Amino acid sequence: MTIRIEASAAAPGVATGPAWRYPRRPTQEETAAEHDRQQSSRGAVRPKLTEVQAIAAVTDAAHRAADQLTALADRLSEAGRRDDAGIFGAQAMMATDTALLDEAIRRVRAGMDPVEAVAESATAAAEMLAAVDDELLSARAADIRDVGARIGRILRGEQPELPERPSIAVADDLPPSVTAEIPAGFLRGVALAGGSRTAHAVILARGLGIPAVVGAAGLLEAVDAATDAAVAAGSPAPLTIAVDGSRGEILLEPSDDDLGILRGRADALAKRTRRAAALRDRPGATADGERVPLVANIGTPDDAPRALEAGAEGVGLFRTEFLYMKRQTPPTEHEQMLAYRRVMTAFGPDRPVVIRLADIGGDKGIPYLGLPAEANPYLGGRATRLADRPHDLLRTQLRAIWQAGALAEVTPHVMAPMVATVADVKLLQQLRDEARDDLRSKKLPCARKIVTGIMVEIPSAAILAAELAQMVDFFSIGTNDLMQYLMAADRGNASLGSLQDALHPSVLRTIAGVIHGADSAGIPVAVCGELAGDPAGALVLVGLGVDELSADAGSLDGIRAALAAVTRAELDDLSTRALASVDAESVRAIVAPYLARLTD
Ligand code: PEP
Ligand code: MG
Repeated sequence: MTIRIEASAAAPGVATGPAWRYPRRPTQEETAAEHDRQQSSRGAVRPKLTEVQAIAAVTDAAHRAADQLTALADRLSEAGRRDDAGIFGAQAMMATDTALLDEAIRRVRAGMDPVEAVAESATAAAEMLAAVDDELLSARAADIRDVGARIGRILRGEQPELPERPSIAVADDLPPSVTAEIPAGFLRGVALAGGSRTAHAVILARGLGIPAVVGAAGLLEAVDAATDAAVAAGSPAPLTIAVDGSRGEILLEPSDDDLGILRGRADALAKRTRRAAALRDRPGATADGERVPLVANIGTPDDAPRALEAGAEGVGLFRTEFLYMKRQTPPTEHEQMLAYRRVMTAFGPDRPVVIRLADIGGDKGIPYLGLPAEANPYLGGRATRLADRPHDLLRTQLRAIWQAGALAEVTPHVMAPMVATVADVKLLQQLRDEARDDLRSKKLPCARKIVTGIMVEIPSAAILAAELAQMVDFFSIGTNDLMQYLMAADRGNASLGSLQDALHPSVLRTIAGVIHGADSAGIPVAVCGELAGDPAGALVLVGLGVDELSADAGSLDGIRAALAAVTRAELDDLSTRALASVDAESVRAIVAPYLARLTD
């Protein structure tokens, strides 16, 4: 009988195959043997390495792990998978980083066994990262665990477990290096009980076009129970599992009917992807030629090449807070200048790069900044609210942006997140101008002007749109936060799904008001929240009058194709009906026939 398990969609596509459980479950005999081994070794004295030998063993294993990871990164890089190679390049550095190696050596000196010392140090470093309430940073915790496990395997002389046939990986969280080392063609799909959309295993899967789902509660228990039942019934074949990474669905032992439905979905998706990719050289526009620039959301300069490849007409959101992560001190003014200049140069003078001032604090805590813990981080000290705190975060950043513009010979675009009041904008203007005057007085490079915008993502700013629009050059609507604050639903709380669809008419009506305010001052409005990358969202937003959409590189093909399939008159009609709806489901139903054209 088919068992259906709900999950979150993480990488699109449909795949079916034998389940490959990671890590492999020990057999009953192995569990019994391990039990006996532990009993017999209890009290026995293990041959102990001297401290010098133990430190040498840990150091050697860490360097061998780093060498293996560098070799893996080189292989991926040669295969043209530069983003993936970057993950293992970073892991190679973690292997010999002080947080791991020095800590492990410290534990060895305190008398701990080398394998345990590495495992404990990796767990401690990972827990520190995981404690930060930020999806991306927590996902990096998996990398540290992965590196620790690799060093442990080297110390124990073991090989990593890999599937022996093309399979669907079933795990709580799949270590990225395991994902990358699985031979080509042997990983058909990924089903994770834990994980997140930004876990590296999932990023890798997405990059390889492999369907993935995450957050599948009860998955491991269901797979283990079904496997045990099959073994008890004498079935030698492994469990068959299907993953729909577009819908977020898992089927255990799918029936022939289920398989037929899944094949239909896979064919439709393949057709849509082929058609969308064929439009890549065409700038964003409706079927009747109304231009809608499609720009990219990026987190680091390394994301720029992929965005350009995906046909991005600029960068609508450079989330600069990522420059502050995975390190122990804030990036210096010079480091930041180099990062901004790199992206500006890559995009050139005709494709603007909007640099968002770091949205640090609250949920995106950076441990080394020592910001106080808060009861309601989403409603706390965050972004521009930190302007007068230590480290001079925003001043340093603004100076770096002015300089980068001068050196790249482009006019920089800067935008402030989390603006709530007129006073917030005045502070932004003051900090911006002080940074410029300071550079000029010291005869340092400084751009002639900066295009200044704000994110509209707090309801108070949306209500004040007409007034704020008089003070800035552009708006960019952050639908992720706007939705969370309008619906009073924490965007990271997986149990509030029905309140977290930004196509809700209350969000749309708020956006319509923001556009009205912007129009009264003649400034453009972009959207850079996730809604802009959702084809249904893109149509409604452009229908409402949004001028530009900014989304992850991987979403640009889909929204370009959706826009190219509709006329302005149709967009006017669908957005009018969307505004008159009372729930997000009705809005999605209104848009569905237009999206169906993409598969016709
Ligand atoms: C948003 O809030 O919609 C947004 C784009 O910013 P972030 O997701 O970084 O908060
Ligand atoms: Mg936001």
